[in-house]
Amino acid sequence: VLPLLVHQYLYKRQAQTTLPTFLLLGPSGAGKTSLLTLLDRGTPALTHPSQTPLSIALSLPPSIPASSSRYRSPTDPSYARSRCLLLTDTPGHGKLRHFALSRLTSSSQNIRGIIFLLDAAALPSSSGLLEAAEYLHDVLLLLQKRHTSAKTSKGPKAIPVLVAANKLDLFTALPPALVKISLEKAITEIRATRAKGLKDSGVGVEEVDGIEEEREWLGDGGEGAFEFKQMEECDVVVEVRGGYVMGAEGADVDAWWGWVGEQL
Ligand code: GDP
Repeated sequence: VLPLLVHQYLYKRQAQTTLPTFLLLGPSGAGKTSLLTLLDRGTPALTHPSQTPLSIALSLPPSIPASSSRYRSPTDPSYARSRCLLLTDTPGHGKLRHFALSRLTSSSQNIRGIIFLLDAAALPSSSGLLEAAEYLHDVLLLLQKRHTSAKTSKGPKAIPVLVAANKLDLFTALPPALVKISLEKAITEIRATRAKGLKDSGVGVEEVDGIEEEREWLGDGGEGAFEFKQMEECDVVVEVRGGYVMGAEGADVDAWWGWVGEQL
């Protein structure tokens, strides 16, 4: 029994370091636990108290194409393998966010994408919008720094971001197009406030040895309106897609799966 357990342990460890990994981030209450249990067991449940990161191994649903296996036959043994992934939950609680963010910077992980889940019905409230926008701002800034501080010209592999607008079953929820506009507007304000703070404290862009790459604020030098498109300058593609995990008529997470398939 023991060798078998050791074997399973090693296999699991290896699987965890090599499988394409998607990080699930977002404010608490967004629906991360519900989504994870839905994908894991087929029904959403609220069981674990979001205290520790939790990974689950998944395989793309048969209806969703994976870009890398587009030309492979389903009978090819590599076909099934190319559709496997890990989804890693991270605590949304403010004080525990460093777990989530430290994973982004660790290069040992095969991170293929970030799923930033948010409660689209919380965005009409200014505190709900601010919480989501601040968290997303910090994630994007980290990705920008990861890109600009790369030592080689090739840089680290780009990590795309899906803003998954959840709870679209609720009529108070903002549709994805409005989620995008609201977040961009809120991030513009956050960026302006932070840039002003940096200037006032004397660590602005000019101060850092004249190296513009060292800039500490998000997107095009921090002037004017922020748009997710500006992130493409540092190889980060941000997309907003809607869905719901716990609607009255079940779940609709196909748009998110579609995005995951595009990254595989
Ligand atoms: P977490 O803090 O991100 O892990 O969020 P939870 O999974 O604990 O969900 C927070 C609350 O939102 C729970 O009461 C869920 O029942 C509810 N919830 C999650 N997804 C949906 C959804 O798609 N629609 C609706 N109406 N409620 C949802």
